[in-house]
Amino acid sequence: MADVTRFAPSPTGLLHLGHAHSALAGRRRAGPAGAGGGRFLLRIEDIDQGRCRPEFEAAILEDLAWLGLDWDGPVRRQSEHWDDYRAALATLEGQGLVYPCFCTRREIQAEIAAMDGAPHGPDGPLYPGTCRHLSPQQRAERLAEGRPYALRLDVAEAVRRSGPLSWTDELAGEQAARPELLGDVVLARKDTPTSYHLAVTVDDQLQGVTVVTRGQDLFDATHVHRLLQALLGYRVPVWRHHALLTDAAGKRLAKRNDAVAIRTLRDEGKSPAAVRALAGFPDGATAPARS
Ligand code: GLU
Repeated sequence: MADVTRFAPSPTGLLHLGHAHSALAGRRRAGPAGAGGGRFLLRIEDIDQGRCRPEFEAAILEDLAWLGLDWDGPVRRQSEHWDDYRAALATLEGQGLVYPCFCTRREIQAEIAAMDGAPHGPDGPLYPGTCRHLSPQQRAERLAEGRPYALRLDVAEAVRRSGPLSWTDELAGEQAARPELLGDVVLARKDTPTSYHLAVTVDDQLQGVTVVTRGQDLFDATHVHRLLQALLGYRVPVWRHHALLTDAAGKRLAKRNDAVAIRTLRDEGKSPAAVRALAGFPDGATAPARS
């Protein structure tokens, strides 16, 4: 069966060369559009309504088209699918694997500072589990007070239920799933009925994605996604985490860096082919320069 890949940018800024690399890698992995090739999907990850802007979404579609990229089927916009995320969350809640977390960012920081050697994950210190230890009565009191809360996954319990899991990265090989590396991740934020981890897992399932193509920066997030798939009874895709493009100093490209924005390069008079080459995909090459 033909593969389904995707590119899933967040419209919080302009696309840069790193995004172009990611999108081109996804398109290339799917194969050429049309007969015999796989499908390459475009998803707009706009759950963070405070940071996402319609003008950035419009710029994404325009820049991709200018680069010569086409995608299959309609664009999926996460903000139009809250009910899908709510349904998945309800399933996990029904399994008793989710708890409300009333902590503020400041409280979490204070708790971590007071700990002797708080455990760290790839993105910094892990949530210390404060609200996991609340008694049913303390929980009920806080809820009755109307305190805002996020919902977190009880990762230790979830791992006990799922048993050992593994997943495959096409470039890095077989991996043992280690979701505990990220601690009790947020599944729904205080102001949003989902989170990155939940939405991406639900969408990849609903869109029939068979190869999750994305940057190396999200490699560790996959441990959590694999666990969520097991808990939700989803199909298991393979992953293809490509290396990140870096600047001349070896630093990863940032969204703030307008110098590498596709828009800027285009305004400077570069052609789509020149920008594709800068993104690691010179025309005519049979394999990407790196991915
Ligand atoms: N929306 C994420 C980003 O822009 C990518 C998510 C993914 O590919 O899984 O970094």
